[in-house]
Amino acid sequence: MNIHEYQGKEVLKQYGVVVPEGKVAFTVDEAVEAAEALGTPVVVVKAQIHAGGRGKAGGVKVAKNLDEVRTYASEILGKVLVTHQTGPEGKEVKRLLIEQGCDIKKEYYVGVVVDRGTGTVVIMASEEGGTEIEEVAAHSPEKIFKEVVDPAVGLQAFQARRLAFNINIPKELVNKAVQFMTALYTAFVEKDCSIAEINPLVVTGDGQVMALDAKLNFDSNALYRHSDIVALRDLEEEDVKEIEASKFDLSYIALDGNIGCMVNGAGLAMATMDIIKYYGGDPANFLDVGGGATTEKVTEAFKIILSDEKVKGIFVNIFGGIMRCDVIANGVVEAAKQVGLDRPLVVRLEGTNVEIGKKILNESGLNIVSADSMADGAQKIVALVK
Ligand code: ADP
Ligand code: MG
Repeated sequence: MNIHEYQGKEVLKQYGVVVPEGKVAFTVDEAVEAAEALGTPVVVVKAQIHAGGRGKAGGVKVAKNLDEVRTYASEILGKVLVTHQTGPEGKEVKRLLIEQGCDIKKEYYVGVVVDRGTGTVVIMASEEGGTEIEEVAAHSPEKIFKEVVDPAVGLQAFQARRLAFNINIPKELVNKAVQFMTALYTAFVEKDCSIAEINPLVVTGDGQVMALDAKLNFDSNALYRHSDIVALRDLEEEDVKEIEASKFDLSYIALDGNIGCMVNGAGLAMATMDIIKYYGGDPANFLDVGGGATTEKVTEAFKIILSDEKVKGIFVNIFGGIMRCDVIANGVVEAAKQVGLDRPLVVRLEGTNVEIGKKILNESGLNIVSADSMADGAQKIVALVK
């Protein structure tokens, strides 16, 4: 789960990470009030969306007086920001962070991630802050320094110090940088983050080390123990289809393609997306309806797929083990009855109650293309959407 920058900064502040003073604003008037309350000579008006790259897209503006705050706030609020992380459709700005302007001496990068390769937490830092870290990794990987953290003992001061020296933090500020990284690491672990990225971390003219940006991602599987974090969820930033799916406890991820997939089992769902790609198609989603799905759940899943306008055809690929083929068939028929099936549907059923399942589909009057195997089904749906 993702949260906004201003929320991330609030969370980090609780752990002693230094952040600029700031306040969220939902309207232009609130923005001006917030700037007035801050009372600093310079304030920064920052678009709050769940994506980075806002600066380059015109979503971060430095205002030198209240009139400029009003101008920038009215410009940015309601604007659709297109950044390298939003996709071409962009994201509409509905909240602003009004923040104290900082006298930046230099920008750095610090990120904490779960590294699946080593099975540990890794903290990375670079002198090349403020720019996209992916670019730095591609062109000058030697400028990114990493420390692997042993979870039993946590981030050690010598590791943080080594990072601070490697990225050339001014000597007199190394201790502050160590405190910063330690606090960031503690927040990451205690809040079950999957990413905690500060880009940029800055050194200021008056000798502070602070986070000018904050991107926190949380492991959804751990949210049950962080009600304070769940409360920060902004549904407007999420895909409506994914929200609907989460209500029914379906593992659904929206993708950019045009072939809707309904599959049981995460492994089979991944393999289905692969085989669609293999035959030249593009999956519109990942969907695992799970083992114990009811007809109602399958119906909802099918409705979610159909609600996606990008979907030009659907591939149902079921291997009935715990999941029974007749339950899937009933779900498909029920959903088609409720919302109408106006697109090609290819079904491959195998396993428990497969004969009953096929009979239900055959007698439904729906226009279904049946497939003998996964490869056959993938080829058929790819041909039908072309
Ligand atoms: P994004 O990563 O989405 O572009 P950032 O929060 O990193 O957004 O802001 C982009 C740039 O704007 C920063 O690299 C920094 O140079 C500048 N900036 C952001 N916040 C402030 C601030 N409070 N004071 C001064 N400059 C800022
Ligand atoms: Mg940034």
